[in-house]
Amino acid sequence: MSVGRLGGIEISLDYSWFILLFVILGTLAGALFPAYAPEVSRLGHLGMGLAGTFLFFASLLLHELGHAVMARARGMEVEGITLFIFGGMARTRREPEWPGDEFWIAGMGPLVSLLLAAGFYLVAALGMRWGAGPAVTVTAETLGYLNLLLALFNLLPGFPLDGGRMLRAVLWKGTRSLRSATRITAGVGRVLGWAIIAIGIWSLLSAGAFVAGLWMVFVGWFLTQTARSAYQTVLLQQLLAPLTAREAMSPDPETVGPDLTVDELIHDYVLRRPYNAFPVVQDEVVVGMVTLNGLQEVPREKWKELVAAEVMIPLAELVLVEPETPMVRVLDRMQESEVRRVLVARDWELLGIISSSDIARWLDRVALMDRDA
Ligand SMILES: [Zn+2]
Repeated sequence: MSVGRLGGIEISLDYSWFILLFVILGTLAGALFPAYAPEVSRLGHLGMGLAGTFLFFASLLLHELGHAVMARARGMEVEGITLFIFGGMARTRREPEWPGDEFWIAGMGPLVSLLLAAGFYLVAALGMRWGAGPAVTVTAETLGYLNLLLALFNLLPGFPLDGGRMLRAVLWKGTRSLRSATRITAGVGRVLGWAIIAIGIWSLLSAGAFVAGLWMVFVGWFLTQTARSAYQTVLLQQLLAPLTAREAMSPDPETVGPDLTVDELIHDYVLRRPYNAFPVVQDEVVVGMVTLNGLQEVPREKWKELVAAEVMIPLAELVLVEPETPMVRVLDRMQESEVRRVLVARDWELLGIISSSDIARWLDRVALMDRDA
């Protein structure tokens, strides 16, 4: 859900984020503020809670903007910022290509959080000196503390946390191997993830902090999974780096004509071949692609009526690449356009197809690379 743009950077909210919103509001207004500012009324606590929640999310957003602005300053394209249940994420088109870029982009977020922490603590201190009420000083102090916590947590040296990215950049520069730098920091990230899960379970069972404990279990799990897939992505990219689309594709895919009925497509092709997609070719030129998913949406009574040309994905919505396109670029294109298949063609003449299952087969080989690291 998009909520607007800030300096050309699109800000969006994942729906899971609303859960976080209520957890933070509930914790601040229901538990924290009543304990630290008992002299304030119930309504006052709610007001402080709302202000605190708003400022906390503004702080999260500024942390991510720190990453985004630095990425842009280093010449990288920023797609936008998404706030979701585990915090936020600044999305760039691709991963940094240089250790220096990665170090500064990752470091900028925690730096912003540290500055915010200092700012809020300063407001609290000045408020106390000038006699501002606890509604102001307690709220400011809490936000200072939360921002400090946010900075310190993100500085933990496990990938994909900011600190892990910074450590990866240092190791990457030192060893000149992105692969071993990623392996080490992703390993630390997984250990951290499991440690957070363990602390979460302990809080759940013995400390009675149900929401916080459950939250930590999820955060820890998210960390272990992201660390794992980050390492695999790097391996896959290195594995595919020397390959072109022609080398990685499945050559000469089975094609169908545009005039075949859905009934013929299903009985003569889909039910008799191991493929989930058939490029549609007319006069030796690709015009579209029929997929299993597309066919499943055709009601049975229309099977004899509709033809391939009417149910196919049209050419305009397909991703076509030249046979010489580097595979790393093909992966980028598949991610950007969120397609599961890419057609390899020259002048619209079909040469091959690369599907996500082809990529998965390449992923099987990753374990071999891991061993010769
Ligand atoms: Zn960050």
